[in-house]
Amino acid sequence: MISLNNITKTYKDGTLALQKLSLTIETGEFVYLKGKSGSGKSTLLKILYGQEKVDQGQIILADHLVHKISNRKIHELRRQIGVVFQDYQLLPYKTVFENIAYVLEVTGYPNEKISARVIEALETVGLKHKIFEYPSNCSGGEQQRIAIARAIVHEPIVLLADEPTGNLDPQNAYAILKVLHKINKSGTTIIMATHDQSLVDKLPSRVIELENGYLTKDRSINHTMMIL
Ligand code: ADP
Ligand code: ADP
Repeated sequence: MISLNNITKTYKDGTLALQKLSLTIETGEFVYLKGKSGSGKSTLLKILYGQEKVDQGQIILADHLVHKISNRKIHELRRQIGVVFQDYQLLPYKTVFENIAYVLEVTGYPNEKISARVIEALETVGLKHKIFEYPSNCSGGEQQRIAIARAIVHEPIVLLADEPTGNLDPQNAYAILKVLHKINKSGTTIIMATHDQSLVDKLPSRVIELENGYLTKDRSINHTMMIL
């Protein structure tokens, strides 16, 4: 349901961020995107939600041809995707409720249903009791769970998480990982960028590895090597 075919991405300054990358991810998979800083993980995620354009290659995500999507259609694409960043990116002058409800308001979700959806999303991440707090009154781990609630409130089919545990201690990182796996169990496809192998080992799943913009490891590649 996500397919990348022979993707190459060069930034304006000439940096080659991704090279000849092909990849398929099925609906409902949980995929770790591993690699050192600068290996191309963020670029790959940005390409999936249409924030960066590729030089060549095709990207298909849930029936959208992302590589040639129009600005109008990009909103439709993003309604099917949730995104979580390392630094939470919550709005400081809005309450937890307002931070999350905002996503539904801008997409024209029926007003009378907004509260119920926000509460449901907060229940998923275990933070319903923080609904009227401000982000500054929440710990880092809590802020990331709120950001996850915001990313899933519109019920995306894919959740992209870019180093979501990068600012957290191991305990909070594990809590975030468990929440993401729980969301995955309910059917959402998840791609999580991380450089942290110890975290991957705690809840193993498919690992795709990037090195200098090249895909160097994947389950299917390892499998082929085993046959050889
Ligand atoms: P554009 O949005 O037109 O591509 P830039 O390429 O200047 O503009 O940068 C976009 C963002 O990427 C900026 O926030 C910038 O700080 C960041 N950025 C620029 N160069 C690099 C780089 N070499 N590595 C990581 N991030 C970068
Ligand atoms: P990762 O997420 O694995 O740290 P990135 O996708 O951010 O890797 O970066 C891949 C490469 O592209 C790096 O060399 C980085 O410096 C470069 N890069 C990222 N964003 C930009 C940008 N906006 N402009 C120029 N180079 C960039």
